[in-house]
Amino acid sequence: MGVSPGIAIGRACVIRQFQAAITGETLADASAVEREKVQFHDAVGRATEDLRVLMAGAETTVAEILEVQVELLHDPMWEGEVLSKIGTDKKNAGDAVLEVTQALMETFGNMEDEYLRARAADIEDIGKRVMGHLRGGGGGRGPAGVGSDGDETDQILVATDLSPSDLIALDISRVVGFATRAGGKTSHASIVARLRGIAAVAGCGEGLDAIADGDMVVLDGASGILLINPIPEVVEQYVEKRKEQLVTTRFLQSLKNREAITTDGTAVHLSANIGSIEDMEQALEYGAQGVGLLRTELLFMQSNSLPTEEEQFIFYKNILVRAAGRPVTIRTLDIGGDKALPYLPLPKEDNPFLGYRAIRISLDRKDLFLTQLKAILRASVFGECRILLPMIGSVQELRQAKALIAEAKEGLIRQQLPYDKDIRTGIMIEVPSAAIMADQLAKEADFFSIGTNDLCQYTLAVDRMNEKIKSLYDPFHPAVLRLIRNVIEQGYLQHLPVEMCGELAGDPQATLLLLGMGLRDFSMNAPSIPVVKNVILQASMAVARAVYTKEMNNIV
Ligand code: PEP
Ligand code: MG
Repeated sequence: MGVSPGIAIGRACVIRQFQAAITGETLADASAVEREKVQFHDAVGRATEDLRVLMAGAETTVAEILEVQVELLHDPMWEGEVLSKIGTDKKNAGDAVLEVTQALMETFGNMEDEYLRARAADIEDIGKRVMGHLRGGGGGRGPAGVGSDGDETDQILVATDLSPSDLIALDISRVVGFATRAGGKTSHASIVARLRGIAAVAGCGEGLDAIADGDMVVLDGASGILLINPIPEVVEQYVEKRKEQLVTTRFLQSLKNREAITTDGTAVHLSANIGSIEDMEQALEYGAQGVGLLRTELLFMQSNSLPTEEEQFIFYKNILVRAAGRPVTIRTLDIGGDKALPYLPLPKEDNPFLGYRAIRISLDRKDLFLTQLKAILRASVFGECRILLPMIGSVQELRQAKALIAEAKEGLIRQQLPYDKDIRTGIMIEVPSAAIMADQLAKEADFFSIGTNDLCQYTLAVDRMNEKIKSLYDPFHPAVLRLIRNVIEQGYLQHLPVEMCGELAGDPQATLLLLGMGLRDFSMNAPSIPVVKNVILQASMAVARAVYTKEMNNIV
């Protein structure tokens, strides 16, 4: 699977695995046990120092990843297991570390959850680092582990898995891509690759074993294609494709710090849709002016049980802190439909998209909703935070949700916990009834955010997930556009901010039409931000209005 976009062409560098092996030695007496324990503590201390040195020169996300490793190094379970193998089983420190690392890697590697599975690489990494200090050779594999050193060609790393410190320690200036047998989008190596613009594919499985050091490899990190020793004509095609991509990418990168403003001076706000702290980093990389949609369900989907108020609070707070004053819109839980939580079984339904989902669950399961609201409210003092309610279909639902927000606030006042007294509550307009009743809802909401993904599926009665009818799923359908126009108009009439966070907001084909309709606030997946910005920078409002007027002929 592609985990970091871009085309990489280069020679394979197969990273040799760390060769340490179990010695099977049994410690003779108590003094040998003591000696091994001291050596273990010393190696952990030095490994921690290594990580701290790497952290000092790393960007925030990378430093956070390394911090996780420092925590793992001092995790009482891992430390305790190793010490017990030395003390009770009389194993030397190296054998104990190897055994505990392998067992933990296996446990994590077999986990269902992709995120936890990806942590196996972090455990392997700390194990290697400590082993490096116990048995010599320094910590970790580092550049010494890379084969075919010394030539000037671009390199593509091929490995079972890559740890973040592998990527940090390597001479990255020569590495243009990597391919791993294991791992996925949430592997830390993939996150670092995306941040540093290194093309990557992960989870390639045994297919990678066919690659030898020095083989020519072509890798497309967007589509997940990996070619081993392709014929020269194919390489040439990819060279051309890469050239074109590079020109576009460089140009789009150069727009990062430019304001999105039309040629005649209309400013447009471009924010990102995110689901995690890693997405937040990416949003900033692409020049997002804020977060228009934080899909909180992703936190819930990555957990093995309902995240507690404290866990949620820390997650929201971290995002707000990282946003550094930029507005962050936190949407309350939007599960049901296509998004399930394994630990919260929902009743089997014939029409899940029309059933028990999103705000309907929150209003029914007040315990879940109040916990989430309190966590958001507590985090709200750490930045510019707003609450967004999904799937609102009527004024009554909005009132019920607002009553629960008031209850959550009262709870915090009783607990003497601070929250932003001016926090605003907006609603997703993604159900046709809400779009039609926008005039009424505008009186009671603080802002609207149009969710075109669901609005389109519900307006056209076309399942957004169904491949067979995908040609019918058309957000440019006049019926959908009329509803969007109504929402924007009502917002304008009642001085209510209207934003859009559905996929249409990130579609450059829709930018002028939406601008012409009066939309000024767009939120999208981060990589679309410079693309949409580019359209805005080249357009005048006169042109945007002309595009809209032309389209009006279809939608009146
Ligand atoms: C939408 O429906 O447009 C939206 C942004 O919400 P989601 O895609 O999470 O359903
Ligand atoms: Mg939706």
